[in-house]
Amino acid sequence: MVSGGISLEEFRANAIQFLNRSSEAGVACPGFGSIMPPRLHDRAKAWHQHMFANGFAQVSWPTEFGGQGLGPEFRRAWIEECARREIAPYFNFQGSALTGGALLRFGTDEQKRRYLPAIAAGTKLWCQLFSEPESGSDLASLRTQATQTTDGWTITGQKIWSSNAQMADYGILLARTSPTESKHRGISFFLFDMSGRGVDVRPLKQMTGDHEFCEVFFDGAHVAQADLLGPLHGGWSVAVSVLADERAEVGAAGIGLEKRTQRLVDKVNARTSPTERARVLQARTSASATRHLLDRSAGDPTLGPLAKLSVTEFAAMRTNTELDLMGAAAVAGGNPETIESFLYAPGMRVAGGTSEIQKNLIAERLLGLPREPPPAKT
Ligand SMILES: Cc1cc2nc3c(=O)[nH]c(=O)nc-3n(C[C@H](O)[C@H](O)[C@H](O)COP(=O)(O)OP(=O)(O)OC[C@H]3O[C@@H](n4cnc5c(N)ncnc54)[C@H](O)[C@@H]3O)c2cc1C
Repeated sequence: MVSGGISLEEFRANAIQFLNRSSEAGVACPGFGSIMPPRLHDRAKAWHQHMFANGFAQVSWPTEFGGQGLGPEFRRAWIEECARREIAPYFNFQGSALTGGALLRFGTDEQKRRYLPAIAAGTKLWCQLFSEPESGSDLASLRTQATQTTDGWTITGQKIWSSNAQMADYGILLARTSPTESKHRGISFFLFDMSGRGVDVRPLKQMTGDHEFCEVFFDGAHVAQADLLGPLHGGWSVAVSVLADERAEVGAAGIGLEKRTQRLVDKVNARTSPTERARVLQARTSASATRHLLDRSAGDPTLGPLAKLSVTEFAAMRTNTELDLMGAAAVAGGNPETIESFLYAPGMRVAGGTSEIQKNLIAERLLGLPREPPPAKT
């Protein structure tokens, strides 16, 4: 496969060399998945800018918007090689994977020129302003209001669980522009400047001790006319494409999980009981099965819910096995990686759409089962 004058094999070899060199030089930032721990912000940003300077940021984006003009398989190769070394493939998932995808599909030329180069270069950070206190799984019931003015919209309402919002320059925002239309139709999708007036970002503390996500309050905040992405009142189709990108990208975490599971296998020794050995074996087998599933689902967005469900459920199973195997030593010994992955795993079954919602999508869209009846009104 050749794209932009370089074969996939050549690209992969260059990427491996670059990643190994960067690791040795201490420039590479450890991988952290879709949410950046605030303590890694500066390191991750510097690492992204180093990737960009060496031609490894957003490789599949057009060159005019800061990419390398290569095919999607090159991006996948880059993500795989980063995962093998447990290195972050970019510093801002919400910008690189979510906003970038939405802009490339739905943006005007002016919007692409304005926003994509800074994401590619790693100079601007984005967050995702979708979920609200009463609207998570049923996202289309959202109530944040966008009221048309002479030069744009005024935003009033509240978002929650907005990862990295306290550090973000911009957000992708869903707001209701027409309260009279049916719930999926009256929503619009905006590119939102977080530095404007009328925005109050309040970080929330998680059980990991970090403040990775936030509540965001809007009280008369302004969005310019030029920052509507996609059709007015037709933002739901943009949101659906973002949610599909989110599931597919979270699902791509399989290689890293397989690596961490191997470390579990390496802990088995003469003192490991037969029951514990059986659990490690089960985890290792599930890791391989998950990895193969991800290889099959790569590039097929319809399989995204399956990939997301498998990865996040497996991550929880692996970390529980590790904890049981190590007993009190896992926590009392203070192994930060084990403790963090244990405390983090439940959240990943919720972020980007809960496991139950992935099961509904698999049942209805992949297996063709009848739609779930709506919840009874009380
Ligand atoms: C770590 C983390 C990071 C996040 N980052 C962001 C972010 O950056 N931006 C953002 O906008 N949001 C973010 N979220 C929010 C996330 O998308 C929502 O939490 C998620 O969609 C679930 O919504 P909810 O919390 O309102 O739960 P609810 O929708 O209230 O669900 C509660 C429970 O009911 C179940 N349930 C609901 N509906 C159904 C149904 N139809 N069938 C079966 N079961 C159902 C759910 O599975 C869940 O167990 C993040 C969440 C987490 C945990």
